[in-house]
Amino acid sequence: MQIIKGRDAKSASESRGPTFTGQVWADPVMPTADGVTINNVFFTPGARTHWHTHEQGQILQVVAGRGYVCKEGEPRHEILPGDTVWIPAGERHWHGGAEDSYLLHTAISLGKTAWETAVTDTDYKGTEK
Ligand code: MN
Repeated sequence: MQIIKGRDAKSASESRGPTFTGQVWADPVMPTADGVTINNVFFTPGARTHWHTHEQGQILQVVAGRGYVCKEGEPRHEILPGDTVWIPAGERHWHGGAEDSYLLHTAISLGKTAWETAVTDTDYKGTEK
């Protein structure tokens, strides 16, 4: 058993760069243990991940703000505080803030993440469902 206390007030937030578009910050909640990684991820308005997949899936829990999650080939879905999203293993997707709102979500990632290309502005806007 491992008990992880609240984030060390002196630790720095991590700016996330090459696999994201726009300004994205992450605070580690639980370093990878048995393939499970937990991060709080803060997207500024319009910022989003690149297209990617998770080896064993991912759970997103929206804490604050407003944003979108999108499965390839589908319209983007609005996500709001209190929402939980299950992304199955190997499902190509992206997530990020709304154009006019930040998004804070907790991401519980299972297994390795395979990063792909950036989400274009056209793909980002897509059609909202
Ligand atoms: Mn994901």
